[in-house]
Amino acid sequence: MDLLGDWKRTHHCNALRATDIGKDVVLMGWVLRRRDHGGVIFIDLRDREGITQVVFEPEINPETHAHAHRLRAEYCIAVKGRVRRRPEGMENPKIDTGEIEVEAHELKILNPSKTPPFPLDEEVEVSEVNRLRYRYLDLRRPEMTKALRFRHQVARTARNFLDEHGFVEVETPFLTKSTPEGARDYLVPSRLYPGKFYALPQSPQLFKQILMVAGLDRYYQIVRCFRDEDLRADRQPEFTQLDLEMSFVTEQDVMDLLEGLVAHVFKETLGLELERPFPVLSYDEALSRFGTDRPDLRFGLELVELTDIFRDTGFRVFAEVIKRGGIIKGLSVPHDFSRKELDDLTAFANELGAKGLAWIKVREGNELQSPIVKFFSEEETQKLLEALKPEPGSTIFFVADQPSVVNEVLAELRVELARRLGLIPEGVFKFCWVVDFPLVEWDEEEGRFVAMHHPFTSPKEEDLELLESAPEKVRSRAYDLVLNGIEVGGGSIRIHRPDIQERVFKLLKISPEEAREKFGFLLEALEYGAPPHGGFAFGFDRLIMLMLGRKSIREVIAFPKTQRAQCLLTGAPAPVTMTQLTELHLLPGWEVEKKGS
Ligand code: ASP
Repeated sequence: MDLLGDWKRTHHCNALRATDIGKDVVLMGWVLRRRDHGGVIFIDLRDREGITQVVFEPEINPETHAHAHRLRAEYCIAVKGRVRRRPEGMENPKIDTGEIEVEAHELKILNPSKTPPFPLDEEVEVSEVNRLRYRYLDLRRPEMTKALRFRHQVARTARNFLDEHGFVEVETPFLTKSTPEGARDYLVPSRLYPGKFYALPQSPQLFKQILMVAGLDRYYQIVRCFRDEDLRADRQPEFTQLDLEMSFVTEQDVMDLLEGLVAHVFKETLGLELERPFPVLSYDEALSRFGTDRPDLRFGLELVELTDIFRDTGFRVFAEVIKRGGIIKGLSVPHDFSRKELDDLTAFANELGAKGLAWIKVREGNELQSPIVKFFSEEETQKLLEALKPEPGSTIFFVADQPSVVNEVLAELRVELARRLGLIPEGVFKFCWVVDFPLVEWDEEEGRFVAMHHPFTSPKEEDLELLESAPEKVRSRAYDLVLNGIEVGGGSIRIHRPDIQERVFKLLKISPEEAREKFGFLLEALEYGAPPHGGFAFGFDRLIMLMLGRKSIREVIAFPKTQRAQCLLTGAPAPVTMTQLTELHLLPGWEVEKKGS
């Protein structure tokens, strides 16, 4: 294998242009492709910046040319040569260096490569298992290099903005105590304290609040969080948050700052001017108009409440649903669906839990075609059309059921219809805030109220009197930020007074002992002049994914785990030695061992 010796790289592989013709250069990188054309060898030399074509001709240096015959894909090489213009008609306008090539005088093979398990040319679809197993090769691909470098840009731009706004980056511990985000903890056994465990933080929530008590005023951190959840959807056991906290603020102050931050980052990294201010929807309004607290505002197809129209209906199915506390909602879609499409959509709704999906086709002159419209009174039909205002050629869909089912089904159906009809514009970023969340929701399984965000979220001052009498009516001072139908972050103004914190714990059936045991250090801190404070956390991976238009957060994380929480590169999780287990007191019988020692 050749050593670098006194060779110094002069340019990266995307640097040389026509203005460099005649220069002697040294390039280093990997062989992307090799082509032999009648004795002449062409190499596409690649590094993280791009590609330069290198030509080996027998006439120029027979030895180097012979050496070049050994080159294969992904060999790491260094080339000394001279920049020259490509012959006429051989230019490649697709790459930045497409006007020139480097005529090779000397070659060093710095390291050969085994045949890669998959080609690194962009066009090829590669299984994700292979990509994760050979991540170092996968990350050599320009798409992936671009994602990592973009991620770095976003982090850097965000840091600059926060620095300019007086934020201090503070690291908080990974080996800590359980934090209250409602997921399962990852635990780390303590060697020094048999039977005791550290928990990896689900978020820095408690520490950032304590930093506010400590007078730090403005904190942020780009930080890893750990949640041992079932990895349905696109989740990772460890993920990154852009986490921040501020003192002496209201929700508006935090939201204004975050809008400024997001707008700055989009401008600096994507060159996009976002429309501001972001729309603000109450939780109730979001649910009513979109069926979800994560509305996608890139398209219309809003849901319309129809329950009142059918309050006294003679149509048995609707009457029954309303009697049992259910609701009816619908949406109008400017498209005439075929029978097969309607059956498909009905199956889609059924799968989501709807008992049925009713539809009406609206023809010219408001003539209606539907299996159910004959059960409606003249007045009901009239009011229905007034409420939905369908264009001729539209189809109206309804679901009648318990509110949670109606909203869930129609929310998904709305997005599915928009997708099928191509109503979702590419490259558009629609943010909105969702506010006025309920403080708590009833958990059927646990038989108690649970916090909708986390137990340190402040109730609204004006709802405090309902905390004991009608907790489900109490609204919180939380705010979520939604981008294109996906929650990209959330936060709240926190409880900073111990008496209110106690009342909330009581409501959540967290006993004073449990509270003291779990979060005693925070509660104690609140008793020492804690300032009013609030904050926010972005799902950093998700934000990057959306900005780059990628399909999964695994596409923007250097070393992600699979959907089954495995790292295919390292093989984690993996067994450990008996010695390690013994040291950690994890073998059965450690208690005996302790007693005996
Ligand atoms: N700690 C919260 C979370 O991880 C965010 C916040 O309230 O600041 O979702």
